Amino acid sequence: MYPKKFQNLIDQFSSLPSIGPKLAERLVLSLYKKESEVSVQFARALSELHNITTCSRCYNIAEDELCAICRDDSRDRTTLCIVEEPLDIIPIERSRSYTGNYHVLLGTLKGTDAGHLTIPALLTRIDTDNVQEVILATNFTTEGDVTALYIKNLLTDKNVRITRLVRGLATGSDIEYADDLTLQSALTNRTQM
Ligand SMILES: [Zn+2]
Repeated sequence: MYPKKFQNLIDQFSSLPSIGPKLAERLVLSLYKKESEVSVQFARALSELHNITTCSRCYNIAEDELCAICRDDSRDRTTLCIVEEPLDIIPIERSRSYTGNYHVLLGTLKGTDAGHLTIPALLTRIDTDNVQEVILATNFTTEGDVTALYIKNLLTDKNVRITRLVRGLATGSDIEYADDLTLQSALTNRTQM
């Protein structure tokens, strides 16, 4: 039996995905064997995890008013990639096949209700940034497809090219879990809606 303080931390690690009790045990023991300063830094990083904010322009996760992508002036602001959640941006960035900006919807359509989505801000950006292309990169799920179609219909009177990632991604799949090559091809071969 481990001391209660060990067991408590083992239980915390075990609650994470892919970490079983055995691995949790190894992690805790390895932390215990290191200098106590390592644990202090680890705890500090954990406690600061939710100390973040939302980008006021694109609704990505940000540490300041604007996220790192919106602050980067070398990126093309006339192309917007529309995603459901901030974490969807990470695999697209990792694929290194996109240099435009993003807009995070913060969800999908619920029935016909879009009140919780960041669509008003999207419409404003399309006008103020003179956006030329909107890439709908919502997930290939029923909700993602319905949301993409809803946005497409909203944009019909705007002079903007509307594209969707190609379905190299399997139906029902989340952008968040797509690999680099699949995303590169999905972006390069995106089709007009
Ligand atoms: Zn941003």
